[in-house]
Amino acid sequence: MTVPGPRAIIMTMGLLSLVWVCALAAAPASANDAGESVRFRGRSAMRVEAVRPSGAGGVLFDTEDSDPPAAPYDTVLLHGLMPDPGVRIELAVPTLGGVWHRWAPAEVKRFPNGRFWARYKFNGVSRRTLRLRAVDAGIRTAHLLALYDAELFVAGAGPEPEPAARAGEGRAAVSAASYRLVTREDWGARPATEKYEDHLPARFTMHHTAGTKPRTYDEAVQEMRFIQDYHINGRGWIDIGYHFVISPAGHAFQGRPEGAKGAHALGHNTGNLGVSFMGNYHAPIADEPAQESLDAFVSLGRRLSSDYAIPPERLETHRDLGSTDCPGDILYAKFPELKALIAGQAPPTKAPEFGALPVLPPSGFSATYLDRLPW
Ligand SMILES: [Zn+2]
Repeated sequence: MTVPGPRAIIMTMGLLSLVWVCALAAAPASANDAGESVRFRGRSAMRVEAVRPSGAGGVLFDTEDSDPPAAPYDTVLLHGLMPDPGVRIELAVPTLGGVWHRWAPAEVKRFPNGRFWARYKFNGVSRRTLRLRAVDAGIRTAHLLALYDAELFVAGAGPEPEPAARAGEGRAAVSAASYRLVTREDWGARPATEKYEDHLPARFTMHHTAGTKPRTYDEAVQEMRFIQDYHINGRGWIDIGYHFVISPAGHAFQGRPEGAKGAHALGHNTGNLGVSFMGNYHAPIADEPAQESLDAFVSLGRRLSSDYAIPPERLETHRDLGSTDCPGDILYAKFPELKALIAGQAPPTKAPEFGALPVLPPSGFSATYLDRLPW
């Protein structure tokens, strides 16, 4: 099970009553890569709560009315970290007469390490405000409950219109890689559910996963499997949306093949390679990036830039392309330096170093673990 970092543990120890820590982002933002984040008084829905047993049915937290969404939606998808499975996340929308109607999730998945996602589906699209509530459904111990993001979108919407890739903008070449690649086979990826759409890479976008920052290689593998499940079964995509995901130890986990169009930057996916840092580099989680991950990002960025002749001005962050917090204030502030390193304007601080990969038990993970909540 993933345990909160030192900052979060201190928060838990010091505040065993209900505590709200809301994101401080001012920009209209989504911590994710396609949907619009639910916001309350202009703030992201992301929150961290210290919760303790309050008796079955006890309300652990209850939000106020959300801000009106900017676009119609029929699906709400949230994800986070639920160390104790005895929490039920409810969602409510206002109906005629001001009555709030509670909705059960269409599907909930909670993985053995506590990472979970829940999807709610409505009949028809609307721009209704909504509320989120957490209820004690049998909590055993006081713990930290993290809701990383709740995003809104229209399920099954077709691919977004975007300009066609400019032919000849990229070129394939071969160059040495100095980062440690973890292939799909290595991390136990499932095959894509449908055939990929080909594209020719010509640009590069940095993200953060807005999820867990793993402490070990094994935790990073689990997080990759979670993200793939979240994107396939939660979002309804054919595969994980990113091309690469970088762990704090500096491993570059392979997502979609480089020649396959990704799903990571709405309206800008064609020809665009998505590289994401594991972790959440935005308040209130505010992970600090490990130097090993920054070094791996630079090495990978250099290889991709070389292979596809990506010019420095096409090295961008998700925030540069849409209204989103991604990759978080902390990584965003580091991007100019990283970009300069990739473009060869300064030497890297040090060569990346990688340890040996631990051997994982072949059946140490249940991708089908499903904990349907008792509604
Ligand atoms: Zn992003």
